[in-house]
Amino acid sequence: MAGTFIDVELTEEARDDAELAQKLEGTCPVDIFANREGRTEIVEENLDECVLCELCVNAAPPGAVRVVKLYDDTRLER
Ligand code: SF4
Repeated sequence: MAGTFIDVELTEEARDDAELAQKLEGTCPVDIFANREGRTEIVEENLDECVLCELCVNAAPPGAVRVVKLYDDTRLER
C-alpha cells in the first residue's frame, strides 16, 4: 500500500540485498526503510513523511529505488 502523497518502489533484487537494506535503513531521515533480517521493508505509515531528499535513490544502484510523487505522478529515480 502507498501513502497518500508518496510511494516508494524497490525492485525485488534490491529488496533482498542485505547490504542495501542496512544502508537504506541508515540513510532515510524519516525511517521509511526497515532492515528486517537482511531484507528491506517499506514502513508504510512513514511514507508521507518523505522529504524528497533523494538520499535513498542515490544510495542504491541505478534503477533499484524509485520515489513516486502520487500527487503529480512524477518520480525521483536514477
Ligand atoms: S527521498 Fe529521502 S525521505 Fe524520501 S524515502 Fe528517500 S531517503 Fe527517505
